[in-house]
Parts: sequence; structure tokens; C-alpha cells
Amino acid sequence: MPDILTTATPDLMQAARQALKRYYGYDNFRPMQVDIIQHILSGKDTVVLMPTGGGKSVCFQIPAVVSEGTCIVVSPLIALMKDQVEALKANGIAAAYINSSVGQAEANDIARAAVSGHLKLLYVSPEKLLSEGFLQFLNRVNISLFAIDEAHCISSWGHDFRPEYTQLGTLRTHFPGTPIIALTATADRLTQRDIRTQLNLHEPKVFLSSFDRPNINLIVRPGQDRVGSVLEYIARHPQDPGIIYCLSRKTCETISQKLVAKGVKAGHYHAGLTPAQRSKVQEAFLQDDVQVIVATIAFGMGIDKSNVRWVIHYNLPKNIEGYYQEIGRAGRDGAQSTAILFYSFADVMQMREMVTKDVPARQAQLNTAKLERMQQFAEAASCRRKILLNYFSETLGEDCGNCDICRNPPTTFDGTLIAQKALSAVARSKERVSINLLIDILRGMRNQAVLQGGYHQIKTYGAGSDLPYLDWYSYIHQMLNDGLFYIAYEEGYALKITERGHQVLKGQLSLPLKKFQPAEKAEKPSRASKKAATVATIGTPEAQLFDKLRKLRKQIADEQGVPPYVVFSDATLQEMAAERPVSRVGMLGISGVGMKKFETYGEAFIKLILEHEGPQAAPTDSDEVLSAAPRPRAAVANQPVSDSEDATVQLHQMGLSPEDIAERRNLALTTVKTHLYNAYAKGRELRIHDFVSDTELAEIFTARTQLGGDPTLRDLFDHLREKYDYFQLRMAALYHKRLRGQ
Ligand code: ADP
Ligand code: ZN
Repeated sequence: MPDILTTATPDLMQAARQALKRYYGYDNFRPMQVDIIQHILSGKDTVVLMPTGGGKSVCFQIPAVVSEGTCIVVSPLIALMKDQVEALKANGIAAAYINSSVGQAEANDIARAAVSGHLKLLYVSPEKLLSEGFLQFLNRVNISLFAIDEAHCISSWGHDFRPEYTQLGTLRTHFPGTPIIALTATADRLTQRDIRTQLNLHEPKVFLSSFDRPNINLIVRPGQDRVGSVLEYIARHPQDPGIIYCLSRKTCETISQKLVAKGVKAGHYHAGLTPAQRSKVQEAFLQDDVQVIVATIAFGMGIDKSNVRWVIHYNLPKNIEGYYQEIGRAGRDGAQSTAILFYSFADVMQMREMVTKDVPARQAQLNTAKLERMQQFAEAASCRRKILLNYFSETLGEDCGNCDICRNPPTTFDGTLIAQKALSAVARSKERVSINLLIDILRGMRNQAVLQGGYHQIKTYGAGSDLPYLDWYSYIHQMLNDGLFYIAYEEGYALKITERGHQVLKGQLSLPLKKFQPAEKAEKPSRASKKAATVATIGTPEAQLFDKLRKLRKQIADEQGVPPYVVFSDATLQEMAAERPVSRVGMLGISGVGMKKFETYGEAFIKLILEHEGPQAAPTDSDEVLSAAPRPRAAVANQPVSDSEDATVQLHQMGLSPEDIAERRNLALTTVKTHLYNAYAKGRELRIHDFVSDTELAEIFTARTQLGGDPTLRDLFDHLREKYDYFQLRMAALYHKRLRGQ
């Protein structure tokens, strides 16, 4: 087929861009979204592999919005469906879902809406889709496309395998001409192949986006006093929702209890709870009623909460895939987020036992290899994101600037002497000691293990008492990684010196070591995190405003029975706190504020920002602040305006457009414009740029000069070829007059 017929028309892409702004409030597509949408709009099959938070939904929702008919979305999780449909509705897009939780009468209404073409998106569970009669019903619907969400569920290789998914291949037979788009956050090759073949996709184009999540600050902390660290972290982020992942159900419960005892709103979640208990905690977390969830990895699959600000791994995950998936639940809204991993060598040992127990030898080998990669990540002395992406066969050009190593690069020094002390202590204790015991010996501790072994009598006892525990801990791990000794697992994890170790001990080889900074510093937002939205520092006016905005969001969300992030995302509130928009134009300029949301919430948020600014603060508009034009001084003496004019001006200052004011006050548009003109003429400050931009003012000014003298409005109107209406021309005239100080 010639290419010209198979690419989306420019018109459709234009409509797609407009829809993005209008419904989602976003100015630009993310890089891959454009290509994907273009491909889908040209009617072809598509596979999208993008990490969680990458922006997959937009890829099929926008084509659904700009195409005729209804997009059928297959989604495996009831909770997710509900969330997505709520979010769509909040954006002003007609959407609905049908699954086992929807009653017959409601389902009939939805079906009718679909048949009559009133729905842009219809979400269904695979069971429902494949159930008796549903496919026949779909025959009556004008289907724009099928979107198969969480498409990896089709693969029996994966951990989320759902047998119903394997029958989705019939869609192609029933609807041969309808394009199918499959989306997943799983990128491995086997899954990809299963998706293509089982869905009977026709020469699909596969879009594999980068798996980088630059807004997540990656931190690894030594595994000492974990509860203390967690509490301290929460105390410093008292409003931020987060998840703590633990290995066992028991740990989940105890930690959650400890947090609650300290006044933290925490709850636990694991597979041992009843479904009712689980959905209760989950709901509370979604609503921001519970700040912290302590969970086993069972938690997270079914939730779509975009404002999770941090994830803590209390225990070491068993491989990088798992780790990456779990940290991916933080910061889906793109705002700065944190992932902290507690790490100690004991974790590796514990995990090693777990992943090799009761499994065939080959599997055990594979599991161990994967665990070692995880360990390598945890012990890294160079950019952690590079290591992570490297694992997924991606390369990062430069260091990320948003991990603990990048923020606090370790310094290298000659560590030969330190290494010799440790090696000598290992040798003198007859290579019978484990890492922890070795550190105790070096630091001259008098505990039972030391005394029992008689290690207080060896020559190197206390030779390293000048260094704190954590430094020794780090140096010994570096020596291990450098191959100076190894661990004999079968001998109670005793350290054994290698040939290379002996060389260092004898002074034949020197050893560079890295010194790390204390962990707290590594967590501060750094200027280096270029792509990540900055977080307001606690106590600043911006942070105070952010806090107020967040409270208002919560209040609105509770009133409307939706999760707070459905109202606005954290990223959107952060931008509001920084920009403080008090006009319609300003508010619509905030990323994440679309038309519908502006209409629903805009006024309340503008009001809050105005209140926060204080009564004397003149509303400044970002458009105005940015403009280079000098602000005209009020040359006209302030004259009283009428009450009615005043009411109009007040609404204007709240950010309403003349059209909105007219509607609100039940006045004719011309009356409102006259009010505004009169008020401006009487010296009231208005945001003139809401009506005419700087460039437009300049154009009108030039026209005026060209015409010479004092041209009539009619002359100007004609000269400018009817580009501006009379209201704009009059306001511009006043502006210029005030500028000249007349
Ligand atoms: P995924 O389904 O891949 O996990 P989502 O579709 O939920 O990701 O998108 C993650 C977040 O990014 C959402 O808050 C979404 O609104 C936002 N987002 C998506 N596309 C854009 C865009 N073009 N500009 C700004 N934000 C976007
Ligand atoms: Zn880095």
C-alpha cells in the first residue's frame, strides 16, 4: 500500500494535539507518544512497551477521542478500570466500564450509549468481552479500535498470566478490519512474541520506549536501624504517600504497628488478608487517608495511584526486575520521587537461601545469578541508574544526577593500609570469621562472639577502632567486590583470602578504596536532576501554598468521592504553587489543567491562591510577568467604579473570561466588556494580556502609527483586516494611552 494512504492525516494529528491540551491540559506529547498515536491513527496494529508511568494511556485514549466510534479497552483489573474511567470523566471524556461489578440495568444503559455512539471509550474485563452475547453486541457498536492493556497477561511465561487473555485472539477473527493496540510495561522478548502471535496482530509496529524513570531518586542505605530510618524519613515527608515493601507478612504487620504507634497513618497489606480487608486499606491509601502502606509485593499490581512519592524496600528484592517494577509505582505523575533500598550483606545471604531452596538446580543457578546482579546494584560505587538500565540493555549517555552516588560521588583514596589491617585480621583468625565478626574484631568490640573465639588476643584486635562500623562495612564489601577475599557459604560465611588478597597483604599490590558521604545529604534535591520537577523545600512560601492546594484537593476529592490525584496530580499542584496562576489563561497554562478541570475546579484553586497572596497583592499573571513590555503606570486617576463594574472586575481577577463572567452574572457579553473597559479607563488594573497579547498590542500600535493622527476604531478595524474586535482595539487604545501617561 502506498505510504500516503497509511499515515495519519496532518488534520488528525492536529486534532490529537488539541485534544491533549483541551482534555488533559498537556502542551506536548512525550516523544514516543506522537509516533505511536500517528501509527494507530493510520489504522495499523501496534505494540507499545513502556514502563509504568511512561504515559501509555494517552496513546490509545487520544486516538479514541479523535476517531469516530468507540474504543474498546480490555483491562484485567476491576479497580484499575474504575480508576481510569473516573480519570477520563474528570477530564471530560465520555467513558464507562462493564465488568462483574456492574449491575444489569447499568450495563444496559452503557451498552445503549455505546451503540448510539456516545461513548469514546468502553472498558471491559476479558471475561466479559468473551462472554456469551457480548461479541454480538459489539457488532452493533462502531468500534474505532481495540486496546489491550496489560497485554503481558497473555504470556504464560510471565508472572501475571491470565488464561482468559489467550482467547483474545478471536477479536481479530470477529473484527478483521479494526486496529488493535497492545500495551504493557513488560519488555522481554518472549512476552513480546506471545503478544504478537496470540493476538493475531497484523505486521504490528513495536514501540519500545526507554525504561528510564528519571524522576525517581535512587538511594541505597545500609541496613542498620531500618525502623528508625523509616520513621525519620516519614517525619521529614509528613504528607507524602509511600509504600514500604517487606519480605514477609509478619514483618509487614510489625512495622505497620510500629509506625502507627508513632502516630503515622499506616496500614498493612498482604495476601493473607481477606479481600474486604485488602480493598479497605487500598481504598484508604488511594484517598490519601492512609499515608503509608506496608506491604508484601502482592500490593501494587492493581493500583493506579499516581502520587505515590516514595517506595522503600525494607528487604532486598530477589532480582532487578522485581525491584524495578516496585520502585516504578512511585512518581507516576512525573514529579520528583524517591526509592530507598535498605541493604546489608545479611539480606543477600537470607535471600540466597530462599531462592535456591526446593527448586531444581538450574533454576537455583539462575536465581542466584539474578540475585548477584541485585547485589551488584546495591553495592555500586558508580551511577546506579546506569547499572539499572544496563540490566535492561539500555545505555545512559551520562551519569543520571539523580541517584545517591551521583549526588554524592565517593572520593577515592589509597586504601592499602586499611585493606591490610582487614586481611591480616582474617589471616590471624584463621579464616574462620564472617564479615560482622571481622568488623567487631577490627574495632575492638568485647562481645560474646569475639571473646568466645579468643579473637581479643590476636594482634590486629582493635587495629581499626578509629573507623566507624559503616565505613568498615563499606570497605570490606569493596574488598570483596575487588576479589581480595571470598565468602565460604558452606563454612558459616567465613571469609577466605584469595591470591590477590595475599598480594595486597604483602604489599605487592595497592588498593584504591572509595569513601561515601553520609546518606542524608544524598537525599536532598539536587540541581543536577534536570528532568525531574523540583520539590518545594519545607517551610518556603511555595511549600506552604503547595500544602494548602493539597488540602483543597483532598477536600474536593472527598466531596466527589474520587481519589485526590484524579482531581489534580502532584506535579500539577507543584506547578501551581510555583506559578501561582490567578487568571484563566494562567491556570490553563499549567500542565495538567484541561478545559473540563478548569471549569470544575479552576475557580476554587484560583481563589485559594489569591487568598494565599493576601488582599493587598495585586494579581500578577505569569503571562504578564514574562512579558517584556513595561507595565503602564496608572496615569489615570483612580475613579470609583460602579458596583456592577466592580463585581465584573472581581470575577475577572479570579481568572474568569468575559464569556464566563457573562454566563455567571447572567449579563450580555457586551455589557461585561463595557464594564471591563470602563474599569480600565477609570484606572483599575486589569490583566490586559488576557484580551490582547504583547505582540498583538505591538501590531495595533504599529497600525495606529501608520494611519497617523488619531484614527477611528473603524479605520483601525479595517486596516488590520478585521483581525481584532472592537473591544480589543479599545482596550489596546487605552493601554497605549496609559503607557504614554495621558
Ligand atoms: P502508564 O499507563 O504508562 O503507567 P499513565 O498513562 O498512567 O502511564 O501516565 C503516567 C502519568 O503521566 C499520568 O499522570 C499522565 O497523566 C502523565 N502523562 C501522560 N502523557 C503526558 C504528557 N504528554 N505530558 C504530561 N504528562 C503526561
Ligand atoms: Zn546516577
